[in-house]
Amino acid sequence: MSRLDSFISRMQSQREIINHVKDNAMIAPDGVILEIGLGNGRTYDHIRESFPNNRIIVFDRAVGSHPASTPPEKDLVLGDIKDTIQQFAGTNVALAHADIGTAYAEKDARTLTWLPQSVAAALAPGGIAVSGLPLDNPELEPLPLPVGVEPGRYYFYRKR
Ligand code: SAM
Repeated sequence: MSRLDSFISRMQSQREIINHVKDNAMIAPDGVILEIGLGNGRTYDHIRESFPNNRIIVFDRAVGSHPASTPPEKDLVLGDIKDTIQQFAGTNVALAHADIGTAYAEKDARTLTWLPQSVAAALAPGGIAVSGLPLDNPELEPLPLPVGVEPGRYYFYRKR
């Protein structure tokens, strides 16, 4: 698979899984959503459109998003997510989406030393995690992938 194919597959997977969560009413209508990695703000915008009544708290080192998809300041948490996400442990988050893989094996291995347990700690029982990196954690049960999502390209879990 070319890098272009892989990129397209990642975008498609993000959209399919987010749409699946919405279409199947998998999260509480008033539950908090964590968008882990704002980047350009494309997935933030899709999540915002899909879940207009849920608060979305967004993490990144700095704001680099398009002005049309930049979150309000009150919902932005800036800094290293490894540190900033810790304050959400035990807060009963409904949905966490993490798009912070880099395709550099060493960097991703470092992220995986803290991301799975941090996401698991933030989610409510029954909460949903969607991630570009695998979240191997005993509290996170893998869910069947929606049609159109290539196994191993994106990951989908429910907290036990
Ligand atoms: N899903 C986003 C979109 O649709 O535009 C793209 C996210 S981009 C691939 C990943 C973002 O996560 C980057 O903006 C990067 O700065 C941020 N990021 C990755 N690791 C981080 C960390 N440990 N702390 C803070 N930000 C991080």
